[in-house]
Amino acid sequence: MSTTTNSSMDALSQGLLELLESHDPAVAAILSDEADRQRTTLELIASENHVSPQVMHAMGSWMTNKYAEGYPGARYYGGCEHYDLVENLACDRAKELFGCNFANVQPHSGANANIAAFMALLAPGDKVLSLPIKSGGHLSHGLKPNFSGTFFEIHEYDLDPDTEQLDYDVIAKIAEEVQPKLIICGYSAYPRIIDFERFRSIADSVGAFLMADIAHIAGLVAAGVHPSPFPHAHVVTTTTHKTLRGPRGGLVLSDDEEIAKKVDRKVFPGSQGGPLMHMVAAKAIAFQEALQPSFRNYSRAVVDNAAALAESLVSHGYRLCSGGTENHLMLVDLRTRDSELTGADAEQWLESAGIITNKNGIPNDPRSPRVTSGLRLGTPALTTRGLGVGEMKEVAALLDRVMGSHGDAATCEAVRKDVRSLCDRFPLPH
Ligand SMILES: *Cc1c(COP(=O)(O)O)cnc(C)c1O
Repeated sequence: MSTTTNSSMDALSQGLLELLESHDPAVAAILSDEADRQRTTLELIASENHVSPQVMHAMGSWMTNKYAEGYPGARYYGGCEHYDLVENLACDRAKELFGCNFANVQPHSGANANIAAFMALLAPGDKVLSLPIKSGGHLSHGLKPNFSGTFFEIHEYDLDPDTEQLDYDVIAKIAEEVQPKLIICGYSAYPRIIDFERFRSIADSVGAFLMADIAHIAGLVAAGVHPSPFPHAHVVTTTTHKTLRGPRGGLVLSDDEEIAKKVDRKVFPGSQGGPLMHMVAAKAIAFQEALQPSFRNYSRAVVDNAAALAESLVSHGYRLCSGGTENHLMLVDLRTRDSELTGADAEQWLESAGIITNKNGIPNDPRSPRVTSGLRLGTPALTTRGLGVGEMKEVAALLDRVMGSHGDAATCEAVRKDVRSLCDRFPLPH
């Protein structure tokens, strides 16, 4: 497909496509098609979002050209004056946003933030207590092939099989038995509020560190829509690109001076080389955006939209794991609508209709991770586009038309048209 620009596209984005058109038409066409895909599909993946044009273009700016190994005022390369300024700005804004004393903005990703946090708190072979990925945890919390499962002794707590929620009394008992050095809370597919205070008292009862990985809920926390892990967690890790709506990247936060010093050393030189300073600049911009009152309204709308989507899905006959949602995401148990329905089929059919989701295991899922019985849905990206509670009913109806028809081609094609017109009503800014 040849490169096309769109009237809703910002000037810099149009300029980029023009700049590339004769320089590298192959990549120009791919980028243009991807812009088009994002403009004309509904993004319901709970870990994704649409950044502002300002954040997007800062990532493609001058700051990609420089090595800035080290930290502000102590770099291993000359010429870092402006890099020091932007990194300090990003750190100050992160601290203000989360109400803590320390921030390291250099981790390339959420997983990298976790590597640094593990290295700061643990020695190889130490015991870690976490929720397994099959129950909503993250692979960097102890999955065997991951660094976490390779170098540490991982023990698990699980969700209560009936409520599908955390059972703090049971977690306390397991902690008592295991005597871990680190307890991890914070998840990738958990739709409920996390009681950080309770987790800290469990950690204290066994002399463990508490790490809160708020990768998914960081934006909600920053906006005060979900309780903060401070002052309870010893260390807080997060991504910057999910509900926080910044560039792809990671962040480590703490209130503990000793831990902060170790985290700095374990990010660099412990686990990374030169920081991605163009991403650090974009993080600074995203943090400033998140400090605005409008971000609070956005985050409230994310949660309101999730509640509305959940309610509509229930009215169409779907059961939601844990009985609902209190944050930006929900896990749909597809078997309750149709015992044959799998996550893999639903994901594929929905994509053909322009609705982007991901299959996801549900608690005690009898199907394999490649098939699954669940679908994870989130509202951060749709809310950024401006869809509201009223539109969530439309979205639920579109989802159900596709899944109810078992991916019937004519139905998917008809839904694809309706998705396009819904997207046209809520254009993206880039
Ligand atoms: C997304 C996520 C991460 C990892 O982020 P990446 O940037 O993909 O490395 C870490 N922890 C949790 C809980 C997540 O959901």
